[in-house]
Amino acid sequence: MKIAEVFYSVQGEGKLVGVPSVFVRTSGCNLRCKWCDTPYTSWAPEGVARTVESLVEEVEGFGARHVVVTGGEPMIAPEVVALTSALRERGFHITVETAGTVYAPVACDLMSISPKLANSTPDDARWGPVHERTRLAMDVLARLTAEYAYQMKFVVASPADLEEIGELVSKLGVPGENVLLMPEGRSPEVLRERALWLVPLCLKNGFRYSPRVHVDIWGDRRGV
Ligand code: SF4
Repeated sequence: MKIAEVFYSVQGEGKLVGVPSVFVRTSGCNLRCKWCDTPYTSWAPEGVARTVESLVEEVEGFGARHVVVTGGEPMIAPEVVALTSALRERGFHITVETAGTVYAPVACDLMSISPKLANSTPDDARWGPVHERTRLAMDVLARLTAEYAYQMKFVVASPADLEEIGELVSKLGVPGENVLLMPEGRSPEVLRERALWLVPLCLKNGFRYSPRVHVDIWGDRRGV
């Protein structure tokens, strides 16, 4: 499978924020978010072909208990089921980070679903229409939320996004404790500025606020 990077850091977002974790980042995505923070896995995918065995061996070398299989879109990676099964056999806690547009029967302890809102659609003649058609797959979201322990994270660019989020979580029956809102932005300054209006909106709607610790600490950097 094509892998962009493997690294050891703290989980920066969501319910497991701060937990030491090995990140396995697959390359390739079926979406093209305009603000994608890993364009080297989507707009211009990079990476090297790796076997499941070599990845598991590298993950074990870090000595951590938590593994995050992320992307790109890991659910379209050809051997993602084999990879997560091999990690489970070795006793790892597995988080899979997905946009929730494709289903694969992965082994997973926390399905971290990040449905893409209208704010993600790029002004791109080729990818704009494809992205808009693909970004929300209600049947896949319903299946993932029914079959796995999950969190639903949204990247929020403006207060107007709350209307789309409200409609989506209400249709899917997602409880507020599983909804996490994160500010869009690639610098600590932008995140701080947006947190000032996003936290009150979380309080008003009964949603959780999620920081983006890796951006707060390192800004827009790879491998952290
Ligand atoms: S789904 Fe994730 S990896 Fe794919 S384009 Fe959007 S932000 Fe980038």
